Amino acid sequence: MNEITTFDGSSSPVQYDLAGNMTKIPRTELPSEGDYEATWDGWNRLVRLRTHGGCASSSSSSGSPAQKALDVIYEYDGLTRRTKKHTLCGTNLGIVDYYYNSAWKCIEERKGTDTCAERQRVYGIRGRNDLICRDRYYGTSSSSSCSTTAKERLYALSDAMVSTTAITNTAGAVTERYSYTAFGESQVMDASFTNRSLSLHDWQTRYHGEQRDAETGYYNYGYRYYLPKLGKWPSRDPLGEKGGANLYGFVENNGVNRIDWLGLSPECNGQSQAKCKKQLEKALMDTKNKSIIKEIHDEGCSVTFKCSNCCNDEHQDTAGYHTSINKGKKSSITLCYCNQASKSRPQWQATNTIRHELVHAIDACTTKKDTSTCEQSICQEIRAYKSEGIGIQKSFAGARRSARSFCKGASDAETDAKIDAIIKKIGKRCYDTSPY
Ligand SMILES: [Zn+2]
Repeated sequence: MNEITTFDGSSSPVQYDLAGNMTKIPRTELPSEGDYEATWDGWNRLVRLRTHGGCASSSSSSGSPAQKALDVIYEYDGLTRRTKKHTLCGTNLGIVDYYYNSAWKCIEERKGTDTCAERQRVYGIRGRNDLICRDRYYGTSSSSSCSTTAKERLYALSDAMVSTTAITNTAGAVTERYSYTAFGESQVMDASFTNRSLSLHDWQTRYHGEQRDAETGYYNYGYRYYLPKLGKWPSRDPLGEKGGANLYGFVENNGVNRIDWLGLSPECNGQSQAKCKKQLEKALMDTKNKSIIKEIHDEGCSVTFKCSNCCNDEHQDTAGYHTSINKGKKSSITLCYCNQASKSRPQWQATNTIRHELVHAIDACTTKKDTSTCEQSICQEIRAYKSEGIGIQKSFAGARRSARSFCKGASDAETDAKIDAIIKKIGKRCYDTSPY
């Protein structure tokens, strides 16, 4: 299912093993050069990639990476973090050892038998891909005298998708730039946007802030490799079909808006769920939220909370939602964790989302507010948005958006006109009298 069978221009068909791992991968940069033989271990990890015949293959050992003979061996730790790369032939010969912290951030690399760092990285607090700075020491071959001063220090500048767009030196001057296609093929440029064939700094932190392998152009996402030229993973989703029916697709074909931290499917993964639970826990410790919950209980109603993967239901674009039964006596509030609205959500947004839904819950509980009319629904939304600390105009805009689903007119234009008339009539009163 969804395995590719051929690649344009390639002389031989693509092959997979029974576990769905690509064993013959087209050399996408130069299909006429044949393909790579890929070897996988019992945990579906890529352990060797080489041209036919390895280093002795008919491909030349010089030329572009796409033309060179390649033979590279990868090793991993029990968590699937890649700890070693041994390049027998190809780009960057020799052995590199990788060291990680517990957050999967690769903080140091050492070459060969060196006991000194060849390069080190400093990250921000946002995530595994939030690289701030990289130091290179070069030539630290002597174990007795490890250099403590970096020979090269570079700072990473990235876009909203954490793709590195430029690097600067310590004086703040741009030394290299990077641009990307929607599926992550990168182009290296100099400071004045002139193309370079390769990075002069061996800078491989690129698309989505992931580490690119110079020898193949593949990205090591953690649990899987990503092949930007194909826009596909060469192995199945380790989460199975939880990430969708296509086990090889990349972030639901939406690399511009979606990200996959470890190759475990975008957002819809255990990590996101755990993060959501943590955010929910903290949101329930919020003083204002606690007081609304108390009020709900005092009114004789109950409210429960849960985290849910909201990708596959009607709430795709909301950060959370509220449902009530028994005329609002029992409410359930859901915080979403795998859709657009919950992607890289900071704690304060989670806290505000819960507060917004709690206002709906208290309104549903106290039958003072009749949700059956368009007018009351709009009023409720304005109150809910205000509770998040949102200003009056933005609250109106939020209510206008939400109200479209329950204030249906004969046409979209009519719906909007109806909503606007109500907001004009009662909007300010709803906003001013809301206690939340
Ligand atoms: Zn709402």
